[in-house]
Amino acid sequence: MALLEIIEYPHPTLLEIARPVDPSEINDAFRTTIDNMIETMLEAPGVGLAAPQVNISKRFLVVDVSSYYPDRPPFAIINPVITERSGKTTFEEGCLSLPEFREDVERSKKITVEYLDAWGKRQVITDEGLLAIVIQHEIDHLDGIVAADRISPMKRMMYLKKLKKMDRKGLRIPELSGSRL
Ligand SMILES: [Zn+2]
Repeated sequence: MALLEIIEYPHPTLLEIARPVDPSEINDAFRTTIDNMIETMLEAPGVGLAAPQVNISKRFLVVDVSSYYPDRPPFAIINPVITERSGKTTFEEGCLSLPEFREDVERSKKITVEYLDAWGKRQVITDEGLLAIVIQHEIDHLDGIVAADRISPMKRMMYLKKLKKMDRKGLRIPELSGSRL
């Protein structure tokens, strides 16, 4: 297994709509990429990582909510589609691609998502906890949307200013981006 580099906003791959994974692509090499993404997510540490965050513009992601759902080891979600959503919830979100971002983001409270697992088998999850939030955050990445796009225009502007300041002061060093939270 290997650690992958996590790219940061506004890298162009984070701004584009990722393409679906063809089921014929789900083979051992693909599963190695999934294992590498899981290792990268655990090392960061993070509770979710979408393929575009490691510069792969395809519709899959990994999640680790094992500290809240002990019976669920880290797993992959391929070509996810949210088929049902209800209610609203707000959660303070961070993002491995948005340095120092930490803001309340409003999401659907309960979702049902259909997807393929790492063996190409169709699966369905309904959740109304952390998993539902993580999945919605990661699906946003597949659609070229980051959490900073989900907050008020004023807060978004303030965050982008902060990023620019960090860039000017050389606090964001691209070579090190993979090893920072
Ligand atoms: Zn993120």
